[in-house]
Amino acid sequence: MSDSHPLIAGLNDKQRQAVSAEDGHMLVLAGAGSGKTRVLVHRIAWLIQQCHYSPFSILAVTFTNKAASEMRGRVEQLLGSSVRNMWIGTFHGLAHRLLRAHYMDVGLPQNFQILDSDDQQRLIKRLIKSMNLDDKRWPAKQAQWYINGKKDEGLRAHHIETYDPNEQTLKSIYEAYQESCDRAGLVDFAELLLRAHELLRNNTSVREHYQRRFRHILVDEFQDTNSIQYAWIRLLSGAQNYVTIVGDDDQSIYGWRGARVENIQQFMDDYPAVTTIRLEQNYRSTGTILRAANAVIANNAERLGKDLWTDGNDGEPVSLYAAFNEMDEARYIVGRIEEWRDQGNALQDVALLYRSNAQSRVLEEALLHARMPYRIYGGLRFFERQEIKDALAYLRILANRDDDAALERVINTPTRGIGNRTLDMVRQTARENQQSLWQAANAMVSQKSLAGRARNAVAAFIEFVENLDNETEEFTLGRLSDEVIRRSGLLAMYEAEKGEKAETRVENLKELVNACQNFNLDENEEQMSPLNAFLAHAALEAGEEQADEYQDAVQLMTLHSAKGLEFPLVFMTGVEEGVFPSQQSMDEPGRLEEERRLCYVGMTRAMQKLVLTYAEQRRIYGQEFFHKVSRFVAEIPADTLHEVRLQTQVQKPSSYSRFNNAASHEAFEQTGYQLGQRVRHPKFGDGTVLNYEGTGPQSRIQINFDQVGSKWLVVSYARLEPC
Ligand code: ATP
Ligand code: MG
Repeated sequence: MSDSHPLIAGLNDKQRQAVSAEDGHMLVLAGAGSGKTRVLVHRIAWLIQQCHYSPFSILAVTFTNKAASEMRGRVEQLLGSSVRNMWIGTFHGLAHRLLRAHYMDVGLPQNFQILDSDDQQRLIKRLIKSMNLDDKRWPAKQAQWYINGKKDEGLRAHHIETYDPNEQTLKSIYEAYQESCDRAGLVDFAELLLRAHELLRNNTSVREHYQRRFRHILVDEFQDTNSIQYAWIRLLSGAQNYVTIVGDDDQSIYGWRGARVENIQQFMDDYPAVTTIRLEQNYRSTGTILRAANAVIANNAERLGKDLWTDGNDGEPVSLYAAFNEMDEARYIVGRIEEWRDQGNALQDVALLYRSNAQSRVLEEALLHARMPYRIYGGLRFFERQEIKDALAYLRILANRDDDAALERVINTPTRGIGNRTLDMVRQTARENQQSLWQAANAMVSQKSLAGRARNAVAAFIEFVENLDNETEEFTLGRLSDEVIRRSGLLAMYEAEKGEKAETRVENLKELVNACQNFNLDENEEQMSPLNAFLAHAALEAGEEQADEYQDAVQLMTLHSAKGLEFPLVFMTGVEEGVFPSQQSMDEPGRLEEERRLCYVGMTRAMQKLVLTYAEQRRIYGQEFFHKVSRFVAEIPADTLHEVRLQTQVQKPSSYSRFNNAASHEAFEQTGYQLGQRVRHPKFGDGTVLNYEGTGPQSRIQINFDQVGSKWLVVSYARLEPC
């Protein structure tokens, strides 16, 4: 073997050692940006080209489908030939493939279908009804969560022994559900993994076949595998196979979803003669970014421990911007991106990262306003999300009873006993009489042309809408939306669901209330009611095309979905106590450490420039919060951090500390204004309150006027009016 072989020529010694190692089990344990994924790609190419393994005998596992297709592309590029018959994918994707190939062995029909999460819930709901259980006491979501959780632990219903009557009922729902899936040939996501596991465990000839076939198994992002996924790898590796895992315990961020970082240690115990290779040189980030990220993660107690260095430039310091509120934060970010673009850089090299999905709305609005194309990675835009569309549909009915699409969407969401048969009759009547659904429903209720129970349900819906409309007539848009998500039962419906998706939906609904509260009419909208103007605004935003794959666009994503990726310019937003780390994680040391790892993941995505932003005041569900800057910021060495000052260069009063501004905020509140509030000045026009200093009649207030820019005014002379 020669060091100048093209597959290893551009690598450092450790990477080269990993890529060109003799057959054997291997653990590559290394920090972010040290080339783990790159080593995997080169290792696969090496095995094929130098060791003459057929692509057919290699199995590679990645964390996302996108990562899988990128990895395949890079291997093909290195080899200059296709590796179509190499198995590469996510655990779910590979399980699906196994089941397709062995449907008979696992008792599935050839045309079995995958049941997505929504369909799964609907099926469970139907079963609960048919079992004569009260669906209020036994919400389908809860049963779904129970069933999937058990499957993830590898448990079938008959494995569960319980004397708890509640759990006995859940168990019987699990049984009925599984029977029904089996009869219909349906496989849910958790079932994919479980059934593939059972196939390998129970069927010796199939297991041995794959053990013979996959001579090399390689797993990226191993720190985030769960129990059943690890059990899979165990079953696939017999005496003649070699397993290579690469990972970073400091980047384990899915513990809350059952991932077990302990699997790394387990791997060392379970496999003989594992070669461990540690990569320590980082090729991604500047020296400064790396030093900042290393200092943060050093505060975690439970680490396998490793050092990362770079021989690249120090680069610029990490920037920290203290925004007054979330709108100021978004505006600052957009300004920085504009500068970046004006310097001739691409938008797709910029990532905006946030802790939770709901934070995207304000950022999206600022980007739209600046006409800057953006793409949400792994998700929908705010106004396209299911729960937001549900809530908007209620608002639309309040604005216009004849909005059939909106009525269809929510007449039975949440369920209120209006079934499809009833709806069909309403649809038919509407068609015959050329009426809207609402009119038809009203007529059918008063003419008693619907049968008893259905009629009551429809009448109750009509009454609900009319009452809501009457009682909220005088409400502001913010209060109206709050009332709508509560009284419609939407909020409760999503709150009753379990799991990450449901939590996100609740947060999004609350964020919708914020959007309504902060909504201002444009000049040309003054003729419209605020509700109509808002609905138009939401429809237009949702209607804007998401930037397509080839268009140069800013990338928005949660910190979780940024794993494994890299960008020249990264903004980490909302770096505040209570947001990041999240409120729920702050009292549990284990969860706090996971948040810190998430922070490490976020910071190490940045190649050239990292900007952290936080808002001193943030509106969450209509309530103002005054968060302190995140503890993670305090963990960054001062000499790597540059605090961006206000452009006005006005000194903040000494009582006004960015680490605790609650006291001075109280003084400010006595002035009657709020940060972020819209005000009107007789001469300068409309603007937003940005800052304040001093107390009582001496206090001064800084306003960013839409027309004339930022100005400081003495509050008692300013003649400001709220608007
Ligand atoms: P993460 O932990 O974030 O997944 P990683 O360890 O998988 O990171 P890679 O994504 O493989 O790291 O590599 C980070 C960057 O460094 C990539 O742009 C990669 O091309 C580059 N890189 C890795 N090794 C080298 C090398 N020897 N020479 C030049 N560039 C390298
Ligand atoms: Mg990687």
